[in-house]
Amino acid sequence: MKTCAIVGINWGDEGKGRIVDLFSNNFDYVVRFQGGGNAGHTVVNEYGKFALHLIPSGIFTKGVVNILGNGVAVDPESLFEEIENLRNKGVIIDEHNLLISDRASILFPWHKKLDILEEDRLKDKKYGSTKQGIAPFYSDKYQKKTILVGELLHSKHLKEHIKDVLEWKNLTLTEVYHSNPISFESLFEWCNSYIEKLRPFIKDTGKILEDALKNNKSILFEAQLGSLRDIDYGIYPYTTSSNTLASYIPLGAGISSIKLDEIIGVVKAYSTCVGEGPFVSEWTDEKGDKLREEGKEYGAKTGRPRRVGPIDLVATRYGIKCQNATNIALTKLDILSYMDKIPVCTKYELNGKLIEEFPFPFELEDCHPVYEYLDGWQVDISNVRKWEELPINARKYVEFIENNISCPIKYISVGQERNAYIER
Ligand code: GDP
Ligand code: MG
Repeated sequence: MKTCAIVGINWGDEGKGRIVDLFSNNFDYVVRFQGGGNAGHTVVNEYGKFALHLIPSGIFTKGVVNILGNGVAVDPESLFEEIENLRNKGVIIDEHNLLISDRASILFPWHKKLDILEEDRLKDKKYGSTKQGIAPFYSDKYQKKTILVGELLHSKHLKEHIKDVLEWKNLTLTEVYHSNPISFESLFEWCNSYIEKLRPFIKDTGKILEDALKNNKSILFEAQLGSLRDIDYGIYPYTTSSNTLASYIPLGAGISSIKLDEIIGVVKAYSTCVGEGPFVSEWTDEKGDKLREEGKEYGAKTGRPRRVGPIDLVATRYGIKCQNATNIALTKLDILSYMDKIPVCTKYELNGKLIEEFPFPFELEDCHPVYEYLDGWQVDISNVRKWEELPINARKYVEFIENNISCPIKYISVGQERNAYIER
């Protein structure tokens, strides 16, 4: 396999980082193409347990070149904090295994500040932001009011551009939010403190990837969040501010000629959702508390308790279609081992009618889940490594999902650790 994308099918936190870490050693490059430090991709391997935010999950694999593409929000503060943490645990990070696109935009301290100010202003209407500055960052990017990482290497030009952007940004801070302005001196100093640290990593990564393809190298793309958080196709406005779909890869990685050989959609064996927004199969009672405890469903970035519920095949079918997934990695099947009967949401009821297709986002509030119940297996499956050795009811659960989503489930994950999976 030459090119492959690993993408989320649901609301995020499906286990993408875990799957990327598993497959990284088959690839020469691992590329993030959208999103930013709001990601929390958990990886458990020989180095320990990590929640990766900006750094691609291929960073642990020797020989892999990890790239932050032009579609990524590069927050130097978070980036170097993360690099430091990883280095402290023995992970080597240098300009040979990490590159940053010169066309990626910089996430500035005011983006985080504005994220907090806006969520505070919204009060109970808040979106549930991770407060990493992602929404203000992408708004600025599309208003052409960000600074590209590559501009850091052109100091005279940088000074002028920062002045212009800051003049405008201070208007928003002071006039709209009645907050303090940011001084040019402090901002210029902030930039200068990162220039030399960033310099070795900054490259025309689009060109590097084009050349890699010509030379028959293999590339893995790691998406952040999931289909339902995509800005265009997700549950707007409870989406993120970037495109989480595989179809954004040519743009966000700067490699227009790319054709993906495989798109692995990661689906969790039940549903979880962090933050606000409609969530049809949510369990808000003690059943939910039990599932959250069993699945240890607390945000990898924020520590927030995740909302949980049974698997939602209406949403999953839609998510697969959006991603154009060629096959599925089903994660956390081991967590369902405690259940006697396992509910599967196969349809929604909307205004007295049964529907199988994911509706317009604003209709989700009026949808109710329709469940079918499958028998549980009620034995620990975390040590199983072969399909034939899974209990028959666990296989039936997987097959039931597969038949209902019309996409082959090729991998089944039964634990956090790298080797805790079954290939079918
Ligand atoms: P991501 O954002 O999509 O990378 O997913 P997260 O890392 O936020 O959340 C997935 C969580 O489930 C992490 O804590 C993983 O270590 C864990 N995980 C992934 N696959 C499995 C699995 O098959 N079984 C169990 N028990 N945990 C898993
Ligand atoms: Mg996560």
